[in-house]
Amino acid sequence: MRYQVADGNSMQTGQPRSAETDLSCPDCSSTRLCRVGSIPDAFEFAGRMLGSPLAGGSLYRCNNCSLHWRHPQPGKAKLDALYRQGNADSWQDNPGKRLDWQLGTALIRKMKNAASVLDVGCFDGRFLEYLGQPYLRAGIEVHPLAAKHAAEKGIQIVGHDFSALDTLTVPFDVVVALDVIEHVSNPRELLASLVKATRPGGLVIVSTGNTAAWSWRLMGGMYWYCSIAEHLAFINPDWCTRTAAKMGLEIEQISTFSHEPTKMLGSAIQASANIFYHYLPDLAYKIRCLDARLKGEARRPSFKTPPHWRSAKDHFLVAFRVPNSSHQASLSG
Ligand SMILES: [Zn+2]
Repeated sequence: MRYQVADGNSMQTGQPRSAETDLSCPDCSSTRLCRVGSIPDAFEFAGRMLGSPLAGGSLYRCNNCSLHWRHPQPGKAKLDALYRQGNADSWQDNPGKRLDWQLGTALIRKMKNAASVLDVGCFDGRFLEYLGQPYLRAGIEVHPLAAKHAAEKGIQIVGHDFSALDTLTVPFDVVVALDVIEHVSNPRELLASLVKATRPGGLVIVSTGNTAAWSWRLMGGMYWYCSIAEHLAFINPDWCTRTAAKMGLEIEQISTFSHEPTKMLGSAIQASANIFYHYLPDLAYKIRCLDARLKGEARRPSFKTPPHWRSAKDHFLVAFRVPNSSHQASLSG
């Protein structure tokens, strides 16, 4: 069966497009979809240059549940291999700047009787180290070297991929997934697994990009956040509210924030660079090449990818409260 898909942004360029596709929403299976636009090809994955570019495909939006996702996506085996080859040193966040760490830590510290915290996608354990004592701190991490670094910090590694969430025997008081949910193709399935690993009355804390941010809506498929090859599917506060209602969860808090707050001039430069790239991507590429030549640097294929816009307020943190009783029954939907 074939379905009509609307094209949401006629200004996107780069990929051939078809008026029809067999796609349906990976979350709600709706066929009321909108093709937001083309996503530029990627030349890096998890901090490492790729031998050949990964096709960006297109960004789609579900008009029923508001999930956004890229299509097509690499298969699981290919993604797993790419993650294992990733650069363990590529994540060098400064805790002082990570507003989701600050928001998450404040929520956990405010919570009565919080004794155990599981960080899903804990990388080298930096968030849990930042959170500090007196919690039982555990993590799930796919990258072997990062997991080793986390263990050296006293983090108990309880699994290496998301499937471990469904096999844990003792639930945690708090389960966090910071900058993780965009790495899976079905965010609702991951959220259900996070809830399963959380005790009744506990908290699930998620931070990720926000498709409802004006900067993202302006840039469509050419937005820096969805051009990152590891990022597959994207949510927003509206999706969280609907999904919480379906799963019987309460929303404790939703906070929007910028991943890298910048002074006004820096923010204006990032905004201008993005708008320029949006309308004139080929000219933006030539200017980057010329700039590199003037500096005596090599031309890089990644000059074709969108400039970052980390100063934009395009992230959000959401805390879901797991009900005190019979929460497991609601997870199958
Ligand atoms: Zn949907």
